Amino acid sequence: MIYYEACPACDSKRISPVCKAIDHTVSKEVYEICECFDCTLRFTQNIPDISNIGKYYASDAYVSHSDTKQGLVNTMYHWVRKFTLRQKQKLITHITGLKRGKILDIGAGTGAFTHVMQQSGWEVKGLEPDATARAQALKNYGIALDLPGELYSLNNDAVDAITMWHVLEHVHDLKGYWEVFTKILGKEGRLIIAVPNYTSYDARYYGAYWAAYDVPRHLYHFSPRSIEKLAKQFGFEIECLKPMWFDAVYVSLLSEQYKKGKPNVTAGVWHGLRSNASALLNRKACSSLIYVFKKSS
Ligand SMILES: [Zn+2]
Repeated sequence: MIYYEACPACDSKRISPVCKAIDHTVSKEVYEICECFDCTLRFTQNIPDISNIGKYYASDAYVSHSDTKQGLVNTMYHWVRKFTLRQKQKLITHITGLKRGKILDIGAGTGAFTHVMQQSGWEVKGLEPDATARAQALKNYGIALDLPGELYSLNNDAVDAITMWHVLEHVHDLKGYWEVFTKILGKEGRLIIAVPNYTSYDARYYGAYWAAYDVPRHLYHFSPRSIEKLAKQFGFEIECLKPMWFDAVYVSLLSEQYKKGKPNVTAGVWHGLRSNASALLNRKACSSLIYVFKKSS
């Protein structure tokens, strides 16, 4: 078990508990969430260490690792994924200015994104801790994903883009990863990180029931300010932000279920759309954000 005496992002000791959240998908255990006064990062307290977290991923409900198509939320998830995969591929080509390049996808799941990038001519490398997901990637797309530990042995300037789609919040070695990013990313490379945003309307509305707290799998809960400060420590700056509109609805549908104990599609969609409406005026308020980082000159 890991108990943080200080903020895992900025090392400040000015931290305090903000709420307690339940692991709704697997263990039903309760975890305290703390916030750092200095960088505003929130983080899950008393988390399982890396050798004990595996069992918290053992659920069919953990949809990003499975290809089940049951239930409305899952059906929607798969439909949206198809659309967003294309959007992600376009974003990478646009921000790197490269039609073809080398990309590293960390937390590649069942390989769908690496496959799309490979199809568009990119040289891909994907890392994924889950053995079932790696087997699916090999079976579905013929892509051999590696274990995350491979990250530490990559060469300097090895890639033009690094992507982490809802993955950074799962990584134990937070600062170690950022050190590697500075090393392996080329000077003109781009680092693309998508994470949930606890300062969004849906997060504030659902409080401890907000599905994107997803304790204890989500070790950190980022605000735009906290991730910007973290990136700065490692010589990165935000180039642009992209809202992930579908996430507000997906997360609100799940949160509604957690809060009331049963699904309520109307309420979930309503609060998801309300969240998006507030993000129209201020995109930093979106339920989930894609941050594009470049190396500071
Ligand atoms: Zn901090």
